[in-house]
Amino acid sequence: MPVPARGFKIELLAGTDNLSSRQKLLSLYPIIVLQRNNGMNINFWTRELLTISSRYFIIAGIAFLLAYIILKPWISEKKIQKIFPKGSDYAREIGFSMITMLIFACVPTFILTTPSIAVHTLYYRNISDYGMVYFCLAFVIMLFAHDMYFYWIHRIMHHPKLFKLLHLVHHKSTNPSPWAAYSFHPLEAIAEVGIYVIFLFGMPMHKYHLIFFFLFQIIYNVYGHLGYELYPKNFNKTWIGKYINTSTAHNQHHKFFNGNYGLYFTIWDHWMGTLRNDYDAAFEEVKSRGRKIN
Ligand SMILES: [Zn+2]
Ligand SMILES: [Zn+2]
Repeated sequence: MPVPARGFKIELLAGTDNLSSRQKLLSLYPIIVLQRNNGMNINFWTRELLTISSRYFIIAGIAFLLAYIILKPWISEKKIQKIFPKGSDYAREIGFSMITMLIFACVPTFILTTPSIAVHTLYYRNISDYGMVYFCLAFVIMLFAHDMYFYWIHRIMHHPKLFKLLHLVHHKSTNPSPWAAYSFHPLEAIAEVGIYVIFLFGMPMHKYHLIFFFLFQIIYNVYGHLGYELYPKNFNKTWIGKYINTSTAHNQHHKFFNGNYGLYFTIWDHWMGTLRNDYDAAFEEVKSRGRKIN
């Protein structure tokens, strides 16, 4: 997600080197408020929304076009759940995903265009500020942090007292399609976007971290709801594949409502004993069917 560089605002005050970064940013407040009154916030929000929604529609759209329309005659026997969702299911998934994206766009806009809040983020402008090693390592940290965050909020949302209110919308897709990637109740959408807040305030974040990580996130999310398994046969038995979350695992979660709570990995499911006992059998059954798609 593109975000305004803190440096950009500070650069506007060139010549005030005696002030700290925070003082410089705070002293810009009247300028930023003025710009906001002239539509800066709505422009920022619109840009965020366009970024998020174009990714969703392009990636889920390509997946849907290929797996549900163009290649359907050749690969439908490989579909994890053999029947296809109804048109009304796709409409519901897209509708809730659109509401989710409206919410997702609000958070970066609020944080990064409110100077008194933006100044507390760890957003940085130049890769050299923290070096290339950190820049690369941060992606790995983000991956594991998001997986942990998702696993636990997901399990909390499955508590009987919270499930109906927060998470039932997502589980209306018992046979999910790529369009289900962001099909959340608005309250779940708020919970899901919490990871963005944690990243911005919890670790130094370059704009490329946010852009590439959330691009990867939507790709993996669409794969998770694809309805087809793309990893090769016996992948679930390999030393690394055992700990990677697959479309089959997440499809089982949608079908049965319990177990397989992970996002990118099955590490937490292994540790917490929530990996479904029938996961390996399901993976092997899907991959043993007729024509291969890998
Ligand atoms: Zn769930
Ligand atoms: Zn899901």
